Amino acid sequence: MHARPYNFYAGPAVLPQEVLEQAQSEMNNYGATGLSLMEISHRSPIYDAIHNETQLLFKELLQLPDEYHVLFLPGGASLQFSMIPMNFLTPGKVANYILSGLWAEKAIEEACKVGDVYVSFSGKANNFTKMPSLQDIQVHTQMDAYLHITSNETVNGTQLHHFPVIQDVPLIADMSSDILSRPFDISKFAVIYAGAQKNLGPAGVTIVILREEALPQHTTSLPAMLDYRTYIKHNSLYNTPPVYPIYMVNLVLKWIKHSGGLNIMEKRNEEKARLIYDAIDQSGGFYKGLAHPASRSLMNITFKIWNDELEKRFIQEASTQQLVGLEGHRSVGHIRASVYNALPYKACQALAEFMKEFQKRYS
Ligand code: PMP
Repeated sequence: MHARPYNFYAGPAVLPQEVLEQAQSEMNNYGATGLSLMEISHRSPIYDAIHNETQLLFKELLQLPDEYHVLFLPGGASLQFSMIPMNFLTPGKVANYILSGLWAEKAIEEACKVGDVYVSFSGKANNFTKMPSLQDIQVHTQMDAYLHITSNETVNGTQLHHFPVIQDVPLIADMSSDILSRPFDISKFAVIYAGAQKNLGPAGVTIVILREEALPQHTTSLPAMLDYRTYIKHNSLYNTPPVYPIYMVNLVLKWIKHSGGLNIMEKRNEEKARLIYDAIDQSGGFYKGLAHPASRSLMNITFKIWNDELEKRFIQEASTQQLVGLEGHRSVGHIRASVYNALPYKACQALAEFMKEFQKRYS
């Protein structure tokens, strides 16, 4: 039996074992200070080094050009649903949203409270099983304040496998559930944002990576904490940042770097997801994937079993075998295996084996 359960939770989610162990070893005494990092001023040189190094690690892993800022914000990705329109949706313009799933829907709801919004693609009629193709993604240059996409729909289990090249309209992406899971060309984006609690660290900090020139001039002034310019101007130290989550993100980024970077993450993620999708596809219909095959996510694998009772039994028996966190999101039910960067290959092997064995017993 493996020492800790295999963790398929969608978020907060699995962290690398090495990172947890390092954090544990430094818990009471960070860097021979005799203090926990949680007890040290965010204005101290000790914290400052972590803050700046974390930004540099993002720059290195994502190969960020100089004009991008790495910002640390509170409030989760959900606060970004409001801050994006507050900062980018200027009067006379309309915000263009791709309605790809539950999280995009929430982003749209918030944007509608701030200004004018239109949905240029909706996957609602097909139950959010499909991401748009590149041809489905359209902008209106004169009218659009920005185009907002969700790179991975955590609840629905769909992922955008290619990003559009958009001229003259800022492209903004919620990458909460697949950031740093694969390499991509950041220069296509004006802003990307992600809550930390899936691929980056614990909950409590949200990463916003933003090209400053894309920010429009405000006609009205925003509250300081809701204005990206505050975070740029003060290097995300206008107020006390979530120092401990940022430190954990720092350790996770170092783990990614030492593992070989984003190309290796992508390769591992493909191999891991394949084990589970194969178990679904080779089950003769016992398991059914919820997402259209072309839109399948490498991070959140959603599927069902033909019978509700069996699904409950599947989740319960899996947990007795130390495979935890497999419940689907409360809005869609069924089964969801989240297989983020930090989840080891052997966890996916164990789940695929369990799926085959469960099928044998119940078909
Ligand atoms: N966007 C996506 C794609 C998500 O998966 C989540 C959280 N599951 C959110 C936004 C909201 O994040 P938070 O809970 O950090 O506000």
